[in-house]
Amino acid sequence: MKELTSALDDIRARILQATPPQLRHTNPALVAVSKYKPAEDVLACFEHGQRDFGENYVAELSEKAAALPTDIRWHFIGTLQSNKCKPLAAIPNLFAIQTLDTAKKATTLNNALPKSRTYPLHVFIQVNTSGEESKSGLPPISIEASTPETSELAKLALHIINDCDRLHLRGLMTIGSIEQSTSSGPNEDFSALVYTSNALQNILPKDRYPWGVDGKLELSMGMSADFEPAIRAGAGTVRVGTSIFGSRKTKDEVAQS
Ligand SMILES: *Cc1c(COP(=O)(O)O)cnc(C)c1O
Repeated sequence: MKELTSALDDIRARILQATPPQLRHTNPALVAVSKYKPAEDVLACFEHGQRDFGENYVAELSEKAAALPTDIRWHFIGTLQSNKCKPLAAIPNLFAIQTLDTAKKATTLNNALPKSRTYPLHVFIQVNTSGEESKSGLPPISIEASTPETSELAKLALHIINDCDRLHLRGLMTIGSIEQSTSSGPNEDFSALVYTSNALQNILPKDRYPWGVDGKLELSMGMSADFEPAIRAGAGTVRVGTSIFGSRKTKDEVAQS
């Protein structure tokens, strides 16, 4: 547990170090990704001041949310399936869904949030910046796009703002490609998300929105391998798992155990 909390301290220090001085007042949010890790590890981080945690699987998230302190802010960061919107919406302290990708799922979530819930659910639209087939998300807005307002992304954003009164559009999320993450040049996934977010921001009604920090769409990008370059590129949220909790089993290993 000592190891865990010192890993957490180390990540916090690295986040601060990577944050440009003019952005330190909005210190990027750290989502500690605890998938496949036991509830006691989450609790140790919680007791060390960590509040935002990310999970990829609905059953695992529901179980942990029921067992752990209710002032944890849970982020769902896994692939969002239509039939999982209802069980997700039922988790009282689900703070955000970072992987929203269709209007239908937005509507389902909006309608499924229980009346007892007094605050909105934050959502990030997932953008597939790398275009990899294995990744979910809507296409980014490209520099060549002449009518960004007709993009799928703009339509979904407007649907959330206009028709889903219990959802707050907080920002955009991407899972960049490994190639970009390990190459020495600027990360093209991060620059695509920045460009997309600026283009989208120009289209959205300024009076009804947005809920990100400093009145801008917030960008969720950067994981253990690349959260520092993500912050330098403008990330408002980073999602870090392995560097805090240590390596985890793969999906296949979990299925076999
Ligand atoms: C697992 C996961 C992370 C954390 O990845 P690490 O490399 O362990 O930091 C971040 N984002 C998403 C969407 C994930 O699925």
